[in-house]
Amino acid sequence: MTTNTGKVFLIGAGPGDPGLLTIKAKECIETADVVVYDYLASPYLLEYARKDAEIIYVGKKGGDHTLTQDKINLLLVDKAKEGKNVARLKGGDPFVFGRGGEEAQELLEYGVSYEVVPGVTSAISAPAYAGIPVTHRDHTSFVSFITGHERPDKKESRMQWDIFAKSDATLVFLMGVKNLANIVKNLMANGKPADTPVALVRWGTTTRQQTVTGTLETIVDVVEKAGLKSPAIIVVGHVVSLREELAWFDRKPLFGKRIVITRARAQASGLVAELTRLGAQCIEIPTIRIAPPKDIAPLAQAIDNLDKYEWLVLTSVNGVKFFFDTLFAKGKDVRALGHLKFACIGPVTKERLADYGIISDILPETYRAESVVDAFKDVDIEGKNVLLPRAKKARTILPEELTRMGALVDEVTAYETELADDGKETLIDLLKTDGIDAVTFTSSSTVSNFMSLLDGEDGPALLKDVTLASIGPITSDTARSLGLEPAVEADPYTIQGLIDALLAHYGRE
Ligand code: SAH
Repeated sequence: MTTNTGKVFLIGAGPGDPGLLTIKAKECIETADVVVYDYLASPYLLEYARKDAEIIYVGKKGGDHTLTQDKINLLLVDKAKEGKNVARLKGGDPFVFGRGGEEAQELLEYGVSYEVVPGVTSAISAPAYAGIPVTHRDHTSFVSFITGHERPDKKESRMQWDIFAKSDATLVFLMGVKNLANIVKNLMANGKPADTPVALVRWGTTTRQQTVTGTLETIVDVVEKAGLKSPAIIVVGHVVSLREELAWFDRKPLFGKRIVITRARAQASGLVAELTRLGAQCIEIPTIRIAPPKDIAPLAQAIDNLDKYEWLVLTSVNGVKFFFDTLFAKGKDVRALGHLKFACIGPVTKERLADYGIISDILPETYRAESVVDAFKDVDIEGKNVLLPRAKKARTILPEELTRMGALVDEVTAYETELADDGKETLIDLLKTDGIDAVTFTSSSTVSNFMSLLDGEDGPALLKDVTLASIGPITSDTARSLGLEPAVEADPYTIQGLIDALLAHYGRE
């Protein structure tokens, strides 16, 4: 082995919930030169990869392999021989029906060194998220992990149906959905009672998780009626009956709700994280892209002349970010702002400002331009120079009102928002297949851009059965002007307010 050969990390990526990745796996992904992943490894994990890492999808969905196992093995060897460290992500645990053993043998044969990073296997975690402990002292003394489909080229079956049938073990079958009828038949033919409880858990631990239960006698019917497909874990045994008592994940308040997030991707993470925590399945279809201003000169000039101003008014997190980016780019730091007073719209803007070590002097009670005007009532702003860096094409009420109060307002563009339309096709597909329960609108432009994505379609008709959730009255007005009626409106007009309003809405259902 040459010293400049890289190493391959055979990594268990966990069952789907991104939180079930191990810390070691995360570190391996963060440092890898190449990340190789397949169908069962959650794409979220790729966000940990280095920006310059090579990302390779090798597929594997049932039989339709994007790359055959042989080619995957060779790929790993080749990349390692190029001197690269390779993170090979596999769903669940790499050595539990993951063919990780075969990959390791192959690497060994080619003299490539490797490490194994075990992962949380779906065999245990999918049942756990369905409220089914795979062992329980009152019900079973052992658990078996069984392949639900044997290698097609295997001459003699290794399946010991008689032993499976006679024991009180919890039987956990992987890769067995297509073969369910056979599994059931074999167990019953070998004496397993027809009333033995059975559960199938599809996409376990993810917000798409779907669980059905029955008995050996009924389960084939139940699964067919539910239209449940692969990938799913099949659990056979008395522990399944504990689900009734122990189910927790699918009892989350927003479980099963598919909610579209229309915010710019860079800003969506807080909302997505919170809704996901509440059980919702978030579908990110950003309608806005945030970009630096095309003409940077006005902001740059304002920053050159900061001494002229008494007040700095910030209306959004983006405004804060782009203001400071420009300040720092000019080689200045917060000391250049020492003489200024600050006003912020909204608690999040205020927090973002605090990240730079600055406490806002004014925070309006509610988070609209009108309330900022109110908040300035007790401040002597007459004849004062106010710098207002914010989005191009923002509402005019704030500068107008401040001017009316006697302030000398310099409004400069700190950033621009553009229509993002990469999600257009996904959105239309989902709407046409009833794949969306709710859409969140966090500003007027998210509504109007969203409707632009539906250009050429009958938007209001497509959205007829979809819950529209608006962050506040102005956004709702924009929606109404486009023929949409929000069923949910936040109060206060914040992201948390929006989440609370959604919870209240679904709580009433
Ligand atoms: N190494 C993986 C298993 C790979 S075999 C692990 O340890 O989890 C592929 C099978 O795993 C699928 O057919 C399905 O039975 C099961 N599986 C993987 N992820 C799953 C999930 N999130 N929910 C339910 N079953 C899953």
